[in-house]
Amino acid sequence: MSHSDCLFCRIVAGTIPADVVHDGERLLAFRDINAQAPLHVLVIPKEHIASLDAAGLASDLLGEALLLAAEIARREGVAEGGYRTVINTGDHGGQTVHHLHVHVLGGRALTWPPG
Ligand code: 5GP
Ligand code: ZN
Repeated sequence: MSHSDCLFCRIVAGTIPADVVHDGERLLAFRDINAQAPLHVLVIPKEHIASLDAAGLASDLLGEALLLAAEIARREGVAEGGYRTVINTGDHGGQTVHHLHVHVLGGRALTWPPG
């Protein structure tokens, strides 16, 4: 189901432009508008799922999203150096867009732990 008031559903629908790096059957990946690393891509399901907490039985979709993140990291040339995949969930997790997304960050040495 597409949510007209959801930013990422609008990107899926094409009503808000994005720098798309992968457009598949079930997943879309595009560059984050406020990149925190030389590579910062968001992998999202085309279907509206609010968060990881709401992902229910979508284990195949989640697996597909993580494997796509790895494929994008390889394609973008950051896999050898290493990269990070992050899913922020809920307020304490720092989730600001309530449509499930996997951050793919790479191209520089990332610090740990996150804030
Ligand atoms: P969250 O904080 O929910 O884990 O991540 C949301 C991400 O979406 C942020 O990194 C933010 O920069 C990104 N973002 C917010 N609005 C837009 C937009 O309109 N286009 C793109 N490409 N990214 C966005
Ligand atoms: Zn949505």
